[in-house]
Amino acid sequence: MRVGVISDIHSNLQALEAVQADMGTVDQVWCLGDVVGYGPDPNACVDFVRQRVTLCIAGNHDWASLGKVDLALFNADAQRVAVWTREQLLPENLTFLETLGETITIDDICLAHGSPRDPIWEYLIYPTTVINTLSFFSTHYALVGHTHIPVIFRIYTGRKRSCDALRPSPGIPFTIGGERLILNPGSVGQPRDGIPDASYLILDTETHEIEYRRVAYDVQETQRRMREAGLPARLIARLEHGW
Ligand code: ZN
Repeated sequence: MRVGVISDIHSNLQALEAVQADMGTVDQVWCLGDVVGYGPDPNACVDFVRQRVTLCIAGNHDWASLGKVDLALFNADAQRVAVWTREQLLPENLTFLETLGETITIDDICLAHGSPRDPIWEYLIYPTTVINTLSFFSTHYALVGHTHIPVIFRIYTGRKRSCDALRPSPGIPFTIGGERLILNPGSVGQPRDGIPDASYLILDTETHEIEYRRVAYDVQETQRRMREAGLPARLIARLEHGW
């Protein structure tokens, strides 16, 4: 089965549509949470996920828009947009976000927004944190988002467990071997690795071939829509730098 794996759309419809066009035909699309927050088009992005995404889990910004987390945990800009997003979301889209679970396990793959240990909040950035989350899922692979940085964590489970963090090369398919892996597709709507292009990955669950992809989108249009909605200037500016 060929699966498009997306994460952290963050209400950025221009980026989401560019990813969809680039993805082409896939059997399923899986989304790793944070459909909303930061960006100007929460309803259109939730509509997209409801109609085209097969599996989706909740992220911290989805919960923030539902009032399920303390907004004091967010910076001032994110708090402001969480309140705005909640005001914008239609009842059916709020209901849909309410239905999202914290993790999903399918075949040999665990899906979590942050980490299998703490799905809503934990950031998997460093190999030590990755090692500490290993006992919280039993599948061979995990897919996570939340950091907005595409990465492959390759885990060695010999006598002493260790982990490499590998930076993927976009557009170059590779086949994963027998090692345990945690894959982060990066962010569709707010990349933070210094590259403004939307990030996602394609995974073939039978051949175990993976391809990370980057897609340019109309950043100026998203910024224009954010300005129109009165969203914070810092969030508008960061999209063109990818930070
Ligand atoms: Zn996010």
